[in-house]
Amino acid sequence: MPPDQHQKTPEPETAEPIPPRRWQCCHCGGTGLDSYGDTCPHCLGLGFC
Ligand SMILES: [Zn+2]
Ligand SMILES: [Zn+2]
Repeated sequence: MPPDQHQKTPEPETAEPIPPRRWQCCHCGGTGLDSYGDTCPHCLGLGFC
């Protein structure tokens, strides 16, 4: 058997449910405002990203 071809088998997906991606924004800390009091450019004022 030639070892140059690796047959990739698809790994089984983890059964763990993906939690909703709602994290306190790492830029504004969840306030939605940046240090200037403007809408946070990282989360667009949502407060999480
Ligand atoms: Zn952020
Ligand atoms: Zn933000």
